[in-house]
Amino acid sequence: MDQPLSKIRSGELKLYALEKNMPADEAVSLRRTYIEEETHADLSAVGKYTIPIDRAVTRNIENMIGCIQIPVGVAGPILVKGEYAKNSYWLPLATTEGALVASINRGCGAITKAGGAEVRILRDRMTRAPVFSTESVSHAAETARWAEDNLLLLRVAAEETTKHGELIGLTTYTAGTSVYIRFEFDTKDAMGMNMATIASEAAAHVIEEETGAKLISVSGNMCCDKKPSAINVIEGRGKTISAGVFLSNELVSSVFKTDSANLADVNTRKNLTGSARAASLGFNAQAANVIAAMFIACGQDPAHVVEGSNTITTVDTVEGGVYVSVTLPSLQVGTVGGGTGLATQNACLTMLGVAGGAENPGDNAKAFAEIVAAGVLAGELSLLGALGAQHLGKAHRELGRGEK
Ligand code: NAP
Repeated sequence: MDQPLSKIRSGELKLYALEKNMPADEAVSLRRTYIEEETHADLSAVGKYTIPIDRAVTRNIENMIGCIQIPVGVAGPILVKGEYAKNSYWLPLATTEGALVASINRGCGAITKAGGAEVRILRDRMTRAPVFSTESVSHAAETARWAEDNLLLLRVAAEETTKHGELIGLTTYTAGTSVYIRFEFDTKDAMGMNMATIASEAAAHVIEEETGAKLISVSGNMCCDKKPSAINVIEGRGKTISAGVFLSNELVSSVFKTDSANLADVNTRKNLTGSARAASLGFNAQAANVIAAMFIACGQDPAHVVEGSNTITTVDTVEGGVYVSVTLPSLQVGTVGGGTGLATQNACLTMLGVAGGAENPGDNAKAFAEIVAAGVLAGELSLLGALGAQHLGKAHRELGRGEK
């Protein structure tokens, strides 16, 4: 190893290009040794991994030095009554937050005892919004109008770049001489950000040719990818999805040690009024916790947790109990592409029966989204219950604090 190491030190061998000169595992090991030397850190634990990395170094990561291991636990079973997910599931949750899996597990138990969570996808469209510069406000208006009137032409250009993706709509926005075209795609089983970006570029070139507007950036931030934004809350992005369950008064008191009126009051004062007072975009208790843990376990892009965090949780007091729901305006998931093909992540998707492309493309991603939404409902119920019974501090003292 000394010879290649000295070549890295001298700059003769580029650290990022080691895979071009040797097998992937060897390249990763050599790079790690070099970084150990540079940083004086023992990285041997980072070097122990089980996943085959040939695919990872070409598709998922550059300059790889090893793997971070995150514990994965299960919560469930949770009965899901969606249109695509119709079964009992064990939810894989990768986290280092003690008490989280226990909390979701309790919510899963309540939902299953109550007869299952009904889940519905209300909208399904991944967006990418290029920004164009124009010469004047009238040119901006003409450009926007041209795009609106020529969806079919743009669709042909976009769909030449993908076998599965479909351009299903667009919305235009202008600000002075800037024009934003928010393209909407059905990306089937792929989360679709690469797919939508490549297809948007092709459509954007047609707009340039036909209108004289200049493409400034394929993403103009009205997409709005990986940023908190009102547009995603209102218009939706990826899957817009709701899950709900009726819990009887008896179930609320036996599982959560509180009563229905208290559960509703906690939700109103915390998730609705408190969030409004904070001008938050998220009107929920811990949606991001469940989404992050399931996303990491299942090879999703964890940066999309920011968009999942705008979930709204409601508790309606109804005769004999409460109807609890969550609505996730912008949930981005995929069962092909991205990190879903890595062996451990793929195993977690397989646990849910949704790994890979579905026979009817899109059905696996929809089923997965329904399961995630049901998991979010479980997390909300459990935390609202714990807060209502004043148990949160106790649970974290007992489960979440190792170092004294
Ligand atoms: P991808 O891995 O780039 O592409 C998915 C591929 O799966 C497509 O090539 C598609 O082929 C193919 N495919 C096979 N069976 C399919 C099925 N049943 N349904 C849909 N597609 C199927 O994944 P992606 O979902 O487009 O993008 C996800 C990645 O983008 C993640 O790694 C994420 O971190 C990253 N990302 C990129 C950006 C960006 O701006 N580029 C932004 C955020 C995140 P066809 O297209 O030929 O049909």
